[in-house]
Amino acid sequence: MTRDALSAPRILIVEDEAALSMLLAYNLEAEGFLVERAERGDDAELRLLESPPDLVILDWMLPGVSGIEICRRLRARDATRTLPVIMLTARGEEGERVRGLSVGADDYVVKPFSVPELMARVRALLRRASPERIAGRLNAGDIELDRETHRVRRAGRDIHLGPTEFRLLDYLLEKPGRVFTRAQLLDAVWGMSAEIDERTVDVHVGRLRKVLSRGRERDPIRTVRGAGYSFDETFGRA
Ligand code: CA
Repeated sequence: MTRDALSAPRILIVEDEAALSMLLAYNLEAEGFLVERAERGDDAELRLLESPPDLVILDWMLPGVSGIEICRRLRARDATRTLPVIMLTARGEEGERVRGLSVGADDYVVKPFSVPELMARVRALLRRASPERIAGRLNAGDIELDRETHRVRRAGRDIHLGPTEFRLLDYLLEKPGRVFTRAQLLDAVWGMSAEIDERTVDVHVGRLRKVLSRGRERDPIRTVRGAGYSFDETFGRA
């Protein structure tokens, strides 16, 4: 499943060891994150000022400005006060741990670390910082979607969706009220490279509606003429 830039969390890796930085980028991208990399502390500072990501993986020892100084400055600015930060440090610098946490890092990992372990920490931090982004479950009114089990229920009954309809519902439900064009839905649900007619979106939205509402319950999907589709943000509210 691909996610477009509007919904995939952005992660900035600030690490001067190119091999490690590339390894992390590779693994994060494989999990659907958008990854940016900086090798120097001063470059990272510029990027963080221009457009703060959703999470920073920050090495302690960096050319330019040190990781700890970057972290301290992030915490001093309103725009980045709560930006999730994971600090990386080399073995032997553990003594600095307390200092790292005291300047406001959210988590702290000692090299060498296992990549799955770091991935788990990234997910946990993002979940805490913006639960709707990678929540395991999405709800609206009597509709519930579970991303881990791929189950959808409405008013307690199981709704059986095909894989495309599931992804479509997942995508729309993540941002209730937001209108997506057919082209955006194609990119997000079918993938960037898909060469599929935009009318295909209409066909699948039609199927999704039919299964969700069975023709007699309220239709949670709104067709916006000339624009596209959205999940009705008023659905489930009085
Ligand atoms: Ca370093």
